[in-house]
Amino acid sequence: MNVNVLKAIGVAVIVLLLAVAYNMYSSSVENDFKDISRTETYRMGDHFTGFYHRPGCPKLKQAQGGGIRFESNEAARAEGYSPCKRCDPDGPNE
Ligand SMILES: [Zn+2]
Repeated sequence: MNVNVLKAIGVAVIVLLLAVAYNMYSSSVENDFKDISRTETYRMGDHFTGFYHRPGCPKLKQAQGGGIRFESNEAARAEGYSPCKRCDPDGPNE
């Protein structure tokens, strides 16, 4: 086998691995989003981003370090936190 064939195989393997990793990542995020509880009423604030989230929000899982628990949206806003656009903590609880 010559060097060019080996290079082509190497590139193909890398592209395939990236595609598989991306698929796994995007499907896990989608599944996480479906798992966000809308019955829990407490909120978690991420002091690095300044957003507050529903428990189980994938954005919160990505946060570095621990979150801050708030008992309500109002309590989080009173501390200067903004609602997450992903989990919509100010939206209706189901
Ligand atoms: Zn969120």
